[in-house]
Amino acid sequence: MSDKIQAHEIRDIIKINYKYTMGGQSKFFLELMKNKKILGAKCTKCGKVWMPPRIHCSDCFVPADWYEVKHTGTIEVSTIVWYTTSAFIENIPYGTAYVRLDGADTALLQGIFSENLVPSKIKKGKRVKAVFQKEREGKMTDFFFVPEDEYERWISKAEFEGGE
Ligand SMILES: [Zn+2]
Repeated sequence: MSDKIQAHEIRDIIKINYKYTMGGQSKFFLELMKNKKILGAKCTKCGKVWMPPRIHCSDCFVPADWYEVKHTGTIEVSTIVWYTTSAFIENIPYGTAYVRLDGADTALLQGIFSENLVPSKIKKGKRVKAVFQKEREGKMTDFFFVPEDEYERWISKAEFEGGE
């Protein structure tokens, strides 16, 4: 008999259930899920409003407090997504943009949906408004933005609702 090892291999599947924490940012996701609030963080020294929220101001290195921003904002930069993960494949093409929400000093990267997506609809300076999933899980996918002139049509759909 040969000394050479013959590996016997069996293909199988491992399923893993796990949970993870949002840590110090948990309040952002809980308020989003329960109350459709979008929370930034306001520096206790300089007053800069960070969105997404930060525990400390990155300019002053002092703590920041939770601060509610508006559901409306302005697109700073955007693109149209044609290649994505399996989670969003049914949505392509869709927009993604840095949106500076009213009341915030920095911009949040988030999805932009439009019934008739063309670059001019999501270009810099365009106004957008947040639309929320009716079934929220406390994730970034609980909301997205739409052009302001499409807002009423989006929130009339069965799976979505407006915030404020
Ligand atoms: Zn500061």
